[in-house]
Amino acid sequence: MENKVRFYNTLTRTVETVIPHEDGKIAMYTCGPTVYHFAHIGNLRSYIMEDVLEKTLRYVGYDVKRVMNITDVGHLSSDADTGEDKMLSGAKREHKTVMEIAKFYTDAFFEDCRKLNIRTPDVVEPATNCIQEFIHMIEVLLEKGYAYTAGGNVYFDTSKLDDYYVFSSQSEKELLVGVRDDVEEDVNKRNKNDFVLWFTKSKFEDQALKWESPWGTGYPGWHIECSCISLKHLGEYMDIHCGGVDNIFPHHTNEIAQSESYLGHRWCGYWFHVNHLNDKSGKMSKSKGGFLTVSLLQENGYDPLVYRMFCLQSHYRKPLEFSYEVLDNMSAAYAKLIRRIAELPDEGEMDETAAAAYRARFSDALCSDLNTSMALTVVYDLLKEETNGRTKRALLAEFDQVLSLNLLTAQTAAETAPAVDAELEAYVEEKIKERKAAKKEKDFAKADAIREELAQKGIVIKDTREGTVWEVQG
Ligand code: AMP
Ligand code: ZN
Repeated sequence: MENKVRFYNTLTRTVETVIPHEDGKIAMYTCGPTVYHFAHIGNLRSYIMEDVLEKTLRYVGYDVKRVMNITDVGHLSSDADTGEDKMLSGAKREHKTVMEIAKFYTDAFFEDCRKLNIRTPDVVEPATNCIQEFIHMIEVLLEKGYAYTAGGNVYFDTSKLDDYYVFSSQSEKELLVGVRDDVEEDVNKRNKNDFVLWFTKSKFEDQALKWESPWGTGYPGWHIECSCISLKHLGEYMDIHCGGVDNIFPHHTNEIAQSESYLGHRWCGYWFHVNHLNDKSGKMSKSKGGFLTVSLLQENGYDPLVYRMFCLQSHYRKPLEFSYEVLDNMSAAYAKLIRRIAELPDEGEMDETAAAAYRARFSDALCSDLNTSMALTVVYDLLKEETNGRTKRALLAEFDQVLSLNLLTAQTAAETAPAVDAELEAYVEEKIKERKAAKKEKDFAKADAIREELAQKGIVIKDTREGTVWEVQG
């Protein structure tokens, strides 16, 4: 088939046309969440843009198989193999078992994805399902001389590779910017960037989940899971591997080191990385705490799809700064867009000439390094076009296979609201005014209390650029 999807490949540092290993098929892998806490909306920016990439590939005709892991073991609080296990610290924080934590936050993650219209990958595999595969790969790496044991742990020996820093001509110092926490020195390592494949000795002796292995009872390192889970489900050649930019080093660098040493050949051709969502204080991260979640946005009156549209309006390779002001603008824009579409009469003959032109523009935008804001411009241009309502509706339904903004099915708050009496209306409007004044004074506790008071009466309010709207829950 014709290859036309182009995006920035971090491996070659150029925008390239994707040429899959097998014609017409794409083997795609996504690093899944570490399920010790809720996903924040930064994590979800990555998953939204990866979802758009997957749907673009399907839209242009590829048969995509997408695999995602769930990190439920082995990710320590530093990306450089040090600190406490993230899952264990989550379990302690909530007085639950590690498996309870994993189940709860895995479910919460997919619930957020559902709200954001992110398609569930074809295969989702928790790391704890694949311990035997990890052990096998580590055995082969030891046999081939790419790994060594020291102090009870098994390490990957990065000095055995001619080109460990595959992603970069940058200096090691620049790469280490991606490493989130302070790096403690591990005296067992032969080289500074060697990493743990299997732990039996850790200063955190109370690690909850442990398995028998040829090197003693222990648990896997973080990176090994993605190499093994992708090989298990996608075979020896993978086309596209995705993640946030913080995954480039050390996680993806280490995945390549292990996989290619194990396989003895090139593994994955295209690496797609999404830049970070930042807040005013910098990168949004789970370890910082106080982060924003989809549920929190909903509590503040925002439709999760407004956040999806916010992400689509900006290019995935640029950092994106979150602010409620911009989200308010987006909320108004989304409501207006939905209203305009709802008003389109379902009349007329399908205008094939206009449809072909718009299809081409839409797919060109997405195939040009995933230019999602241009794809949205095509939607707006289509609404202004001279053609009939039926053609517009048909095209919008098609474009929504990729954009997933519920363009034809979303309802505006005004449409869903039942009739209300004048007295109630006056009361709510007064409360909204009080709340607005409280917010202006930065008295968020008072603003929240007013929202709560209204909620008690079954009234849900929603902040949009056009002001606060409200509805009575039925
Ligand atoms: P984690 O659950 O920490 O393993 O992260 C899940 C995904 O979110 C990974 O692909 C990360 O690279 C990505 N990620 C983490 N923080 C951010 C952020 N602030 N903005 C965008 N993506 C992020
Ligand atoms: Zn991974």
